[in-house]
Amino acid sequence: MKITYGPLIFALGSLLLSCNQSGKKGGASEIQKSGIIKQFWGNIGNDSVFLYTLKNNGGTEIKISNYGGTITRFITKDKTGKVTGIVVGLDSLSDYLKNPPYFGALIGRYANRIGNASFTLDGKKYNLFANDGKNTLHGGKKGFDKVIWTPSIQNDSIPQLTLNYLSRDGEEGFPGNLSVTVTYTLNDSNELKIEYKAQTDKPTPINLTNHAYFNLSGNLENSILNHSLQINADNYTPVDSTLIPTGVIAPVKGTPYDFTQKKKIDQDFDKVKGGYDFNWVLNGEEGTLRKVAELSDSISGRTLEVYTTQPGLQFYTGNFLDGTFINYDGKPITLHSALCLETQHFPNSPNQPNFPSTILQPGKEFHSETIYKVIINQN
Ligand code: BGC
Repeated sequence: MKITYGPLIFALGSLLLSCNQSGKKGGASEIQKSGIIKQFWGNIGNDSVFLYTLKNNGGTEIKISNYGGTITRFITKDKTGKVTGIVVGLDSLSDYLKNPPYFGALIGRYANRIGNASFTLDGKKYNLFANDGKNTLHGGKKGFDKVIWTPSIQNDSIPQLTLNYLSRDGEEGFPGNLSVTVTYTLNDSNELKIEYKAQTDKPTPINLTNHAYFNLSGNLENSILNHSLQINADNYTPVDSTLIPTGVIAPVKGTPYDFTQKKKIDQDFDKVKGGYDFNWVLNGEEGTLRKVAELSDSISGRTLEVYTTQPGLQFYTGNFLDGTFINYDGKPITLHSALCLETQHFPNSPNQPNFPSTILQPGKEFHSETIYKVIINQN
């Protein structure tokens, strides 16, 4: 009999990674301020990685790791009172190290694409890592989704987790030391607020988002094409064959991209080659917190409202999901089993002078806020 040790060693390695010193799977937990539970999740090199559980009085529970600032669970009641998850999440830290497509992670320095993996700023050309054909996607080779953030809990009265990361001058090719703070807050109205702040010591492009994949039904076997969506946007940014915006701001009226009235996602889906993966130009003023989207699922009776200060929204129908990764409940994460509503600046803005600027100047603070609010319709 031929014995192969590879899988055994890999399994042992994964087990060690997901165990704490006491050997218990999942790790020992400690209760922190405002009832947040802190759990050891594994080590990456010499760094410890933790998982934080935020709970409110409305039956919602959210787990976030300081690895990538990743939301691994978002669990709420449905219309029958049953508690199920509404985001894709992997089982263990070792699964997140296998390069998943950004499930629930924080994205930076530049969310979405920068064309030809380069940009010119103040006369100097900066070269980035091309990790999506010839373009840079979601920060490059090791974006903010793959770094360990420094966690802290300051607030006594409300579940709130703050994550800090210092991105050094030249990291992934970007200029300036960039200090980033992201604060996740869960309130009793089932609102998850994500607040982003950053400062730099040299001018640099910045575009921060969270890449949660939602399926409001609580079951990835129900396609998200059956969800209904409204996006408060009269325009969108059409793209070329490599998903880089052409620079045109095009009206959605009369096109499959018109979500100004709530409609089933599958209504015009067959008219969109490859599925939806575009940036919508949100109505209202950048910098003002306003409602920009509403997603509903009739099976669970859940509605997700999205509020943001950002000018754009990437609506992506999970077109590249192919079952490679398995959700924590054992279901494969397949084509259109989950969707993203990523609040952001427009893709490739550093190379598009007619898009709102993404350049952060020294002495200024970048600030943005996004709220995902879950409403449970009882009837
Ligand atoms: C992009 C997609 C990409 C996905 C996962 C989305 O933000 O728009 O094109 O495949 O992220 O990487």
